[in-house]
Amino acid sequence: MAPRRRGKPPRHFADLTAEQRAASVAELGEKPFRAKQLAAHYFTHFTSDPAEMTDLPKATRDELATTMFPPLIRPTRRMEADGGTTVKTLWHLFDDAKVESVLMRYPHRTTLCVSSQAGCGMACPFCATGQLGLTRNLSTAEILEQVRAAFRALDRGEIPGGPARLNNLVFMGMGEPLANPRAVIETVKALVAPQPEGFGMSARNITVSTVGLVPAMRKLADLGIPVTLALSLHAPDDDLRSELVPINTRFSVDEAIDAARHYYEVTGRRVSIEYALIKDMNDQGWRADLLAEKLNARGRGWVHINPIPLNPTPGSIWTASERSVEEEFVARLRGHGIPTTIRDTRGSDIDGACGQLAAEEDDE
Ligand code: SAH
Repeated sequence: MAPRRRGKPPRHFADLTAEQRAASVAELGEKPFRAKQLAAHYFTHFTSDPAEMTDLPKATRDELATTMFPPLIRPTRRMEADGGTTVKTLWHLFDDAKVESVLMRYPHRTTLCVSSQAGCGMACPFCATGQLGLTRNLSTAEILEQVRAAFRALDRGEIPGGPARLNNLVFMGMGEPLANPRAVIETVKALVAPQPEGFGMSARNITVSTVGLVPAMRKLADLGIPVTLALSLHAPDDDLRSELVPINTRFSVDEAIDAARHYYEVTGRRVSIEYALIKDMNDQGWRADLLAEKLNARGRGWVHINPIPLNPTPGSIWTASERSVEEEFVARLRGHGIPTTIRDTRGSDIDGACGQLAAEEDDE
């Protein structure tokens, strides 16, 4: 079957505010309180299947569910690692665009990595998604459906370790979340809204990761929902950063760090700096020193650094830094008084969280 034309995904219950849900239900000739029942099914019981909505009359629930919950994402491939506690899912969207999400269960927490765009327009050369280019923005409901699927799998005991809740969410799948700010902000609102109107997650456990789109970072600060902000810096100097993160020619290192500091000042949330350590590219001791100096020049205690060993992408000439170089880089940052934790590379054996599954599919 030929892929359908790219376009707007169908409107879905999860795209709507509580008032819009009530209005939509009323348009279908139903009592507005049905909207609340549907919200409870969706956000508390993680279902959009009319067969599971037994508190609604049968005819009503069939009509409401068909209209309000059009199928938006369809799992087409599932990969497991770490004894089934890391699960990566490839989803096909209504127009056959592809995205992925990764669920990671740890002893005391669970984390979902979601996609906010199909592909990405930022073109970072070390990132698999960056090589795909941008297909399109996801809608709010297309992002929330990835989240619901994770809540549901955990709730139904499908992930080893017994039934659990989703605690953490990171916008570190495909896409640049702040290049799709409207849908991402609406998603965040639904994530933190108390059940049954939302998933009832804690804002501090939600991380929005960005290449440094300065105006949108400032907008996010004004939202009044103190999510964690992560800035993908990868180099402290403009020469190298413009190569690794091309948008740096528009928003420089200093401008991006200033916007990160502003985010901290407005929200009180400590910002994360992401730094993929690439052998002989950005892993020199002097770059660790320069990075620390630039951060400390803006104050103390407002930032921490997450170096991550580069996860090499197919066809890339770059590899991860040597272990000893990584250790020296981290030691220098800590020596400057900046809290630094190496980011977990869980799922790297299934190319977790770096857009590689969808990239592979395109090669087939
Ligand atoms: N567009 C957002 C989210 C991207 S993915 C952003 O750039 O922040 C989340 C993180 O993974 C980013 O810091 C990104 O730079 C990093 N990343 C991408 N490809 C990687 C790779 N091959 N190895 C290690 N980290 C990578």
